[in-house]
Amino acid sequence: MIEKGPNFLEQIIEKDLSEDYTKEELKFRFPPEPNGHLHIGHATSIHLNFGFGLQYKAPVNLRFDDTNPIKEEKQYVEAIKEDVQWLGYQWAEECYASDYFEQLYQWAIRLIKNGFAYVDSQSSAAIAQQKGTPTTPGTPSPYRDRSVQENLTLFEAMKNGNTPEGKDVLRAKIDMSSPNLLMRDPIMYRCIHKPHHRTGSAWKIYPMYDWAHGESDFIEGISHSFCTLEFLPHRELYNWFLDKLGEEDKRKPKQREFARRNLSHSVVSKRKLAQLVEKGVVEGWDDPRMPTISGLRRRGYSPASIRNFAASIGIGKRENIIDMSHLEFCVRDDLNKTAPRVMGILDPLRIIIENYDKEEEWLDAENNPEDENAGSRKIPFSKEIYIERQDFKEEAGRKFFRLKLGKEVRLKNAYIIKAERVKKDEAGNILAVYCSYDPKSKSGSGTPESQRKVKGTLHWLSSKHAVPAEIRLYDRLFTVEAPDADKEKDFMEFINPNSLQIVKGYVEPSLKNSRPLDRFQFQRVGYFCTDKDTTTEHLIFNQTVPLRDSWKKKEN
Ligand code: ATP
Ligand code: MG
Repeated sequence: MIEKGPNFLEQIIEKDLSEDYTKEELKFRFPPEPNGHLHIGHATSIHLNFGFGLQYKAPVNLRFDDTNPIKEEKQYVEAIKEDVQWLGYQWAEECYASDYFEQLYQWAIRLIKNGFAYVDSQSSAAIAQQKGTPTTPGTPSPYRDRSVQENLTLFEAMKNGNTPEGKDVLRAKIDMSSPNLLMRDPIMYRCIHKPHHRTGSAWKIYPMYDWAHGESDFIEGISHSFCTLEFLPHRELYNWFLDKLGEEDKRKPKQREFARRNLSHSVVSKRKLAQLVEKGVVEGWDDPRMPTISGLRRRGYSPASIRNFAASIGIGKRENIIDMSHLEFCVRDDLNKTAPRVMGILDPLRIIIENYDKEEEWLDAENNPEDENAGSRKIPFSKEIYIERQDFKEEAGRKFFRLKLGKEVRLKNAYIIKAERVKKDEAGNILAVYCSYDPKSKSGSGTPESQRKVKGTLHWLSSKHAVPAEIRLYDRLFTVEAPDADKEKDFMEFINPNSLQIVKGYVEPSLKNSRPLDRFQFQRVGYFCTDKDTTTEHLIFNQTVPLRDSWKKKEN
């Protein structure tokens, strides 16, 4: 896949290096909030930040912005770590905003002492009401000019848990008439008397994200802090906070913004994905229909295909929706090179080869024509086989290069067969097709008959050797391209009721011992991967993506 040229963030780094940064100063981070699993949008941010780390041989921290104990959980921390590593990246340090709570608290006291923060005793509704609008200034709080001493005492009480939740908050004292609403005395701390997954019940106040984020970057010595565009107006506030810390001798992080990536027919927001899980629309965060990294993994996506996807879309300055088919192209492109070819049948039709009189034989089948080191395996052939029901018609036009009465097809890696007659039930349903075969036409046997050209090659399974399997077929989770674009409607209205179809099919015996998350190409059907819950007694395969092309163009 083609990597794009230097993007605008890379140009910023290059410019900094040419002016006043040394290579040793470069340091990046990926800063998720542990309130859900990562999704495909995060993958582009991970690719960006860890990609810069590799490119400049610079450290990249994984930092959890865990400032809100109400929504955050340790299980999400673990899931995020697993996903980043699975994508192929290793962080320099595992960091947590919660590790900086004490430092942040000390800095808050310094701000209070210097007249840059005050305790407001109004309700959150009153504070919101005084915010003003972009064109009208806000109203200063009646508590804005409390004395430093009073502020320190009240803040101390908040910290010690002596202030009820929802009573007092600490606010930065900036400018109630700033055109940037975020600068109108934003809240820095609120009282939350809930335990935190890392700090337990040590804290009764928790910093707001906006107060913790830039400071965390600063503490870690992050040189370039890349985030999505919605944080552009926050930059002014982050710089204000950093200026007021009174830490002059250390370089401040440089924040720059890039556009969020959205994927068609899905939602990329942890909050919305959490709703799908909570309401039971999907089975969990790693349901293969989810655009989460864990869902895509369970669906059979390879880390390389997701990295290639991120590289191919690059980063931009304007939000847009990437079509799901582009992601699917990336996974096909990768799996085509790496996935072993096997045979599986979703909807079996019995074929009886009347002139075949051997018990069975084991034929050679190439594992991957795209990979010469992939070798071959043996597959069983016998008198009764299954083909896909849709690969047979009693009568069909000239363009139907599959099996029809009186005509021949090749069975992949095996023989040429000809359909002679059908057996039907009283309702007219086809129960079986009786065929003859050409014994000299065995693939790879070197006979003139083995070279004989017939239109159409089918996949098949020896029915007595075929292993039953549960096969899960997926469609898009939403029926429209942008389910959350219409602010008047709830995205849940657009859920596709038919996004999962479970089929009882069959696979070749070599798959009996496949391991969870093994990836395959079921020839002529699509890419599949063994589900994480598969067992040798109950094989389960998840469809990764259908095949766009069948063999009909390539061979006959
Ligand atoms: P969500 O709305 O899904 O919770 P978020 O931005 O709140 O997303 P964070 O955990 O804060 O989630 O995100 C970690 C990093 O990933 C941030 O730097 C954020 O900007 C980036 N990010 C999140 N979503 C996307 C996206 N769709 N495209 C690109 N980057 C993203
Ligand atoms: Mg967030």
